[in-house]
Amino acid sequence: MEKINNNIDRTWIDKWNHPLIISGPCSAESEQQILETAKRLNTSYVQIFRAGIWKPRTKPNNFEGIGKKGLEWLRKVKKDTGLMIATEIANAKHVKLAISFGIDVLWIGARSTASPFTVQEIADALEGEKDTIILVKNPIHPDIELWIGALERLLSKGISKLGVIHRGFYTYKNSKYRNQPNWNLLLNFRKILPRIPIICDPSHICGNKEGILEIAKKAYHFQYEGLMVESHCDPLHAWSDAQQQITPENLLEMLKKLTYIKKYDQKSKRDLNSFRILIDELDENIIALLAERMNISKKLGTLKKNSDIAVFQPKRWKNMMEKSINLGKSLGISEELLEGVFKLLHQESIKIQNTIR
Ligand code: PEP
Ligand code: MN
Repeated sequence: MEKINNNIDRTWIDKWNHPLIISGPCSAESEQQILETAKRLNTSYVQIFRAGIWKPRTKPNNFEGIGKKGLEWLRKVKKDTGLMIATEIANAKHVKLAISFGIDVLWIGARSTASPFTVQEIADALEGEKDTIILVKNPIHPDIELWIGALERLLSKGISKLGVIHRGFYTYKNSKYRNQPNWNLLLNFRKILPRIPIICDPSHICGNKEGILEIAKKAYHFQYEGLMVESHCDPLHAWSDAQQQITPENLLEMLKKLTYIKKYDQKSKRDLNSFRILIDELDENIIALLAERMNISKKLGTLKKNSDIAVFQPKRWKNMMEKSINLGKSLGISEELLEGVFKLLHQESIKIQNTIR
């Protein structure tokens, strides 16, 4: 890993010497939309303009991107505003076209990172492209090795201006996020590859406008190197991800609130906050699991009622307790804590089932 780490070229991001801000619409829709959004994004706080030209969509028959003509609009943004320009690529043809239009930053989307053949095809097409910056979004599922594997494929083709984007992970559970963030996984990622710039994408984590600031704050506490936030000149009428896009003016307001954190937080306070974020994240997961458990208790209650089975089954209870305590012990949890927690859970479950009866 050390060799990979040492080969990462950070000069492209270190030159700014403040958090990098990438912003622009989810998708390029029209020349007017692209140019208006870019002009309203003040270049004193945004460095890179993003717009998706080729959009990988979960279901067919949705808008799949404007294609090649969007590259011309992006080139115009670069010429008119001086912003660097970025788009998503998902195959060799995209890479060649984007480079021929002078796109500075290419990102590999979450669905593509999950596919080694796709990443290899992209890496092969990029061979020798020393100037292009490549950002690799996390794969949709939390697999660190697969994510690092994508970086290795790029590095082996001589691509070294790299960064990663934390855009959250798919979860089948009920969650307030569109894609569940995993700060702990990112901390591990940083331990393995301390030199890789980490950018946070609060837009795709939240899936709504309201949560973006909170996620961006967390990213700052974890000392991420930058943010990628979707912005649109007319978010209500966006052709994709309308719920999560904000106006360029809203972005500025948000960034002002973040500068404040950056300036006044001491390292010890930031560390304290990052531990608290990790604990909060675990508590959220525990609560979601509790809700799931109680739901199953309800179903069990109905089943027991219909089959005329007693609610309380002492043998099953004894068994469960033993198994949980042994598992807990192997993970270093005290018997006292486990006994207390499981007694409470069991009582609640019995209560729910008795109510049904
Ligand atoms: C996007 O950035 O618009 C996008 C499609 O992101 P992701 O790959 O994270 O879903
Ligand atoms: Mn999007």
